[in-house]
Amino acid sequence: MEPIRILQWGLGAMGSGMVRLMLEKPGLKIVAAVDGRADYAGKDLGEVLGTGKTLGVKVTSQPEEVLIKGNVELVVLATTSWTREQMPDLRKIIIAGINCITIAEEMSDPEAQNPELAREIDELAKKHGVSVLGTGVNPGFVLDLLVVTLTGGCHSVERIEAARVNDLSPYGPTVMRSQGVGTTPAAFVAGVADGSIVGHVGFPESIHMISVALGLGVDRIVESREPIISKVYRETAHVQVQPGMVAGCAHTGIGYRGDREVVKLVHPQQIHPQLENQDTGDYINIYGKPEIHLAIKPEIAGGIATMGVAVNMIPHVVAATPGMKRMIDLPVPAALMGASAYTRRV
Ligand code: NAD
Repeated sequence: MEPIRILQWGLGAMGSGMVRLMLEKPGLKIVAAVDGRADYAGKDLGEVLGTGKTLGVKVTSQPEEVLIKGNVELVVLATTSWTREQMPDLRKIIIAGINCITIAEEMSDPEAQNPELAREIDELAKKHGVSVLGTGVNPGFVLDLLVVTLTGGCHSVERIEAARVNDLSPYGPTVMRSQGVGTTPAAFVAGVADGSIVGHVGFPESIHMISVALGLGVDRIVESREPIISKVYRETAHVQVQPGMVAGCAHTGIGYRGDREVVKLVHPQQIHPQLENQDTGDYINIYGKPEIHLAIKPEIAGGIATMGVAVNMIPHVVAATPGMKRMIDLPVPAALMGASAYTRRV
């Protein structure tokens, strides 16, 4: 079996972790790496990652140098959250005739918020004979694909409610700012209003995927972001939160069919939830026949699972028919543990 030849584009927290994971998989071979950081350009990928050994792959900031169809079968893109921002890079990849997996949250179902771009990607991918998948832990897995899969034995589903309760403590300053951690309640409200505090990115995508997969007919999605006000002192390497200040963002997305609430997703994200006796976990409740309640404690680890899902989907994307794909369109992800995992076909 020939290994699948990969270009890793974006060598930040996720991209570098995905490279380390791919290096463990004999069915995958890293043949090229791109990142915009000037200090990475021209260096060996092993040096950039600090693996202690040379990998024989030079990092470049010029994707045109390495987007060569005969050499690369698939690009793993880990650069941004937004479909519109990703489009220039995505167009280059598709036009070069190369498949792509991206972890941009909005790309998990671009039709949800950018239907015209979703159409463009789908048409371009079909024209060039490649497939494009958006995935990650959430959106892409916990609050959408797992929910959909759990309904697989149901006769009917009236309503779905799912929550992901997680701990933001390991993350850096960008995440703290985008979740409003360390602000006052008034600054949080102002940040939500001016768009600087965004909370979770992905509820419209997850709700749209669930609705499409089950045929629930969601016709309106409403999101709300509330400050999680701390009763105790909390701190991380990047932020200090006094009692009365904001420790995180409780973000809710509700999908309605007419005036009926059919999908409710809840994602309270904060630093050190255990300091107020809040366990982390993923909870899925399906109200229908039969009723199903799933609790995963603690939460499925976000960074690890994002790298895992993206890498584990590589053989499915290489084998897929051309076009824009969502996780609900492809075979289920499974850990790549042996040769047979690389040869399953869509
Ligand atoms: P990061 O900031 O650590 O790394 C991003 C890297 O991409 C940086 O090295 C940067 O130099 C590089 N980069 C950015 N734009 C580029 C471009 N156009 N060309 C070349 N290089 C470019 O971010 P991260 O933690 O690795 O996450 C990457 C993205 O994935 C984020 O937007 C994050 O929100 C998203 N994400 C999604 C999920 C999910 O569940 N779907 C999970 C984790 C992260």
